[in-house]
Amino acid sequence: MPVHAEKSIISAALLGWYDVHARSLPWRIPPARDIRPDPYRVWLSEVMLQQTTVAAVKSYFAAFTDRWPTLADLAAADDADVMAAWAGLGYYARARNLLACARAVMRDHSGKFPQTYAVLRDLPGLGDYTAASIAAIAFGEAVAVVDANVERVMARLCAIETPLPKAKAEIRAHLEPIVPSARPGDFAQAMMDLGATICTSRNPTCAICPLMDVCAARKQGIAETLPIKPVKTTKPERHGVAHWIERDGQVLLVRRPEKGLLGGMRALPGPDWALVDAPPLADQVIVRVRHVFTHFRLTLDVMACPVGQDAEQQGEFWPMEQLDAAGLPTLYAKAVTAILAQRTYNVG
Ligand code: SF4
Repeated sequence: MPVHAEKSIISAALLGWYDVHARSLPWRIPPARDIRPDPYRVWLSEVMLQQTTVAAVKSYFAAFTDRWPTLADLAAADDADVMAAWAGLGYYARARNLLACARAVMRDHSGKFPQTYAVLRDLPGLGDYTAASIAAIAFGEAVAVVDANVERVMARLCAIETPLPKAKAEIRAHLEPIVPSARPGDFAQAMMDLGATICTSRNPTCAICPLMDVCAARKQGIAETLPIKPVKTTKPERHGVAHWIERDGQVLLVRRPEKGLLGGMRALPGPDWALVDAPPLADQVIVRVRHVFTHFRLTLDVMACPVGQDAEQQGEFWPMEQLDAAGLPTLYAKAVTAILAQRTYNVG
């Protein structure tokens, strides 16, 4: 379908729908207002929303903006406080990049976010999507913003049958010409909302879609088959070991190396997972937890260990009744919860 020819029809229909049906989100300005949202809030929400649902992000967004209401506040924050506040949200490289980006904006741009996609793209941790969404939503630049929801809507609107990820270039080529110069930020958010609420992966509700008259996939009856996903590969299995080292109602926590998975986060001590190729004997294990990372599945066995002479140099002893304030990432929080639950059960 020559979508370019439908440009004005698509943006008018989509924006008209968005004016009535926009999702109300804490980082948003309601549509059709002549006010631009705070770029700090747009940036923070977009970084948090990568690989994470809106429902999960809301409470983190509230906590971060309460504690660090401005970019300057966040840039001046202690790394450990930010990593702890991010705990549970996953993909911890995002938190490290968040700090690096906040500090780069303070240092290199006098504390103000650059206003164009091209300059935003050079900031630490800002990929195509985040740079484009800030440029469009906070500064009104007419750029294409492509997340998974937008990919789905566009693949269907244009009946793109090339499988992902190869289809990405095609999707972008179709989207760029239809981004309107007026309200590009609302247009981007309208696309995202349409994908999240109507043009859903399963059972898209085409009958109430504002784009139904121009949608090629609907006309061909192939909407639900698009976009064509890549064939899923099985994730490799890995084993990890963690040590439970307890003293006077406290347990030893360490900080993981800055680089690598869960970098900079608090954790239970233990050998590098890459070096563990076989699980320990079952009678040595007090708790076994499983966790799925992006590229592998991990089985983590926690073993009770005596306090070593160098324990104080390894990390810090943390009161057991305050472990929920330690900012442990989900994997270790699961292990700690299981151990404490086991202990309550045994005492009870
Ligand atoms: S008509 Fe259906 S498939 Fe097409 S964009 Fe709308 S909801 Fe998606």
